[in-house]
Amino acid sequence: MKVGAGFLALWCLLAPASSPAVEKSPHEIYDALNALRVDASAAYPISPTNRIELRRGDAVISLEEGTLAFLQAMDGLVTGAVFSGRGHVLAMPRDPVEKQQMGRFLGAPVLDQVFVNGYLRFTDDTARELLNQFHSAGVVQQPGLAIASQWDVTLGQLNPLHSLRILLNLLSPALAPAFYAGLDGASTGPFDVILDYGREEPFLLGQYKKGGDKPSYDVWTSHPIPGSPPHVPDFRALFYSLETSIFPNNSLDGSALVRLRAETGKERVLSFQLSRALTVDRVTGDHGEPLEFFQNEGMSLQERSARGNDYMYVVLPSVPALHQEFALRFHYRGNVIEDAGNGVLFVGAHESWYPHLGDASDFASYEMTIRWPRRLRLAATGTKTDEHEDGEFRVGHWKTETPISVAGFNLGDYASSSIASASRSIEVFANRQLEENLKNRMASSGTDVIPIPLTPIGALPNASVAPPLPNPSPADALKQLGKEIDASIRFYETFSGPFPFHSLSVSQIPGTFGQGWPGLLYVSTYSFLNAQAQQRAGLNATGQEHFTELVPYHEVAHQWWGNVVAWSSYRDQWIDEAIANYLALLFADTKKNPDHTLHVWLSRYRRQLVEKPPGATEPAGEIGALSLGVRLDSSKSPSGYEQVVYSKGSWIIHMLREMLRQPGAKNPDARFTALLQNLRVKYAYRALSTDDLRHEVEAVMTPGMDLEGGHSMEWFFEEWVRGTGVPHYRVEYSTHHTESGYMIRGKIFQTEVSRSFIASVPLYASSATGRVFLGNVVAAGPETMFHFTSRDPLHKIIIDPQMTLLCTTD
Ligand SMILES: [Zn+2]
Repeated sequence: MKVGAGFLALWCLLAPASSPAVEKSPHEIYDALNALRVDASAAYPISPTNRIELRRGDAVISLEEGTLAFLQAMDGLVTGAVFSGRGHVLAMPRDPVEKQQMGRFLGAPVLDQVFVNGYLRFTDDTARELLNQFHSAGVVQQPGLAIASQWDVTLGQLNPLHSLRILLNLLSPALAPAFYAGLDGASTGPFDVILDYGREEPFLLGQYKKGGDKPSYDVWTSHPIPGSPPHVPDFRALFYSLETSIFPNNSLDGSALVRLRAETGKERVLSFQLSRALTVDRVTGDHGEPLEFFQNEGMSLQERSARGNDYMYVVLPSVPALHQEFALRFHYRGNVIEDAGNGVLFVGAHESWYPHLGDASDFASYEMTIRWPRRLRLAATGTKTDEHEDGEFRVGHWKTETPISVAGFNLGDYASSSIASASRSIEVFANRQLEENLKNRMASSGTDVIPIPLTPIGALPNASVAPPLPNPSPADALKQLGKEIDASIRFYETFSGPFPFHSLSVSQIPGTFGQGWPGLLYVSTYSFLNAQAQQRAGLNATGQEHFTELVPYHEVAHQWWGNVVAWSSYRDQWIDEAIANYLALLFADTKKNPDHTLHVWLSRYRRQLVEKPPGATEPAGEIGALSLGVRLDSSKSPSGYEQVVYSKGSWIIHMLREMLRQPGAKNPDARFTALLQNLRVKYAYRALSTDDLRHEVEAVMTPGMDLEGGHSMEWFFEEWVRGTGVPHYRVEYSTHHTESGYMIRGKIFQTEVSRSFIASVPLYASSATGRVFLGNVVAAGPETMFHFTSRDPLHKIIIDPQMTLLCTTD
């Protein structure tokens, strides 16, 4: 029988390393995979009486009517098929976080969609499974010239996005298989169904979206599949030696030696992050032998959006033994430094300017040698051991004293100022000039911002014609900023333990961007400007506070939270952001600003979470769970991550602090501080997960926090980290005078959150003698009764006047 022949041929799918497929070079296989077209002799007509169905993860894909044709086999291996006709897909994730996202993107927590075309690629046994079903249903193979020509051009475009993933399975037999379906949804448009056991979360439904300011990839759901094996990295980088030359035209020429260790002994392909702006000339192994590599080829959109960076693959000649150490050498060149105008430079690919393996929780030691044009100054991660002139260049060496997860540099026509103490030195670098963009904004600022006069109006020769203001230099702010940063370090040390590095370089970067790297901060130009200059640049009062009071100190706090205690999964990234931002709020609060900075910021954040901004489909608090991390950014909320993580994250840390607080004690924050110090010691140089954080909170929790019993904080993380929405509270009550005083009976109404939401809500009474604390009511569900007694008659019940709980009230 014809079907039988195909059946047999497919047994050698995912052939072992000795098969013909691997005798070709990786690039030859890759090119052959790209060139695959429909096998015109292997088409199968499907009618509504047949039931052809693939179950992959949470999805059921049914082919109802039309034609399915396999792609040509490669060395006996079938890795794809196309379908033209009508099909149906049904998928229903179980996890509430994922359901909420499905609802947000699809209007219902389930994907229930008719599709008209399908493109399938796989390294699992999809081909055999389909052939079995055709055989059982009596579907007989027919020539398929029409479907072959219909798909010819499309395959030329689609194949390159998938060939690399298929190649990985061909090169590494131990790598778990993958399945991909690109379906053309009748109402959704094209979308992806992925079940790839090589991914940490194997199942994904999502869609590439154009439009808006930038194209984005909307992840409808991404999650593990019950029983899927834990994800273990196959390689670990132990040491990097980076030699980099920066030329007067800002181009870069680099060589990197990376010492690695095989962690599983099952894989021979390594993937490194590296900017696509850098072209790799060669990669060599331990003995100088050239290795095959793939750069910027076959990068699927899902992959890129998940990793956030460009990457390259290096293929080892064979699978290294378990725990074998070896080195790779890379040579690359290109342009990652842009000129922001007026002589100000911007290191664009500051995280992918060298080949980097692993994520933010993979720590390694580094040695760096950098050569750069003599007229510029350069700051870098690590401890500088030497700097000298060499003709038209300067050459510097840096070395790490503690492991770091990423290395970087920044450069410019800098002025600098330094502060040194016995334990550390701080050097602040700022450009002498403003970047072009900002300079222009200042020049045109008179039209939309009222400038603050430099001198009293009356002193000007002609009050109606204001003289042009001189452009400020970011360098003016150096000394003051250095002092403040030093003060913030001392403040953070009381919460987080000793500053983790011997030196800190604070460097200016054009634009509104900021980042805190190990021993190196990138801080926006705006943070170097005084209030008057910020105003001329168009910043409103909140924007000024943001750049002056928060940004630099938020980045300082990342020295502990991010650069010592790290995160691995995108689902845990919020923790370091939240702690860093909350500590920055506490530091701002120490300046005793009459506006009570902490509460001002918390109420701003609360407003951001509950009020729908113009043009948005929902308030930030409804976008999605904090544990979605970067997935909060999508076509529906391009800056969702920023809107949710800083505001809700800061509130979460604030609520934990308030619950742990001991008012009246010598140090009311002793428990909160113990929590942070414990995290800092226990999770140093590794990832802290949301579950780890919950465990550590449970270790210090008070009886008042045990709302569900069982000494568990699960309720808190369920509601605030994995839930959406902000509760609203309202009370109704009546008072009776009795012999022992006043009896207050009432109800607290909880809305805007799920019925299972619980919270401990502090109630106060205002009376003739002032404000009295009545007690906490555990609001469980929409309506909860309470009663209190009071000696004095009360005017009014006030809900949480001290802002200890993220909520709104009437
Ligand atoms: Zn941050």
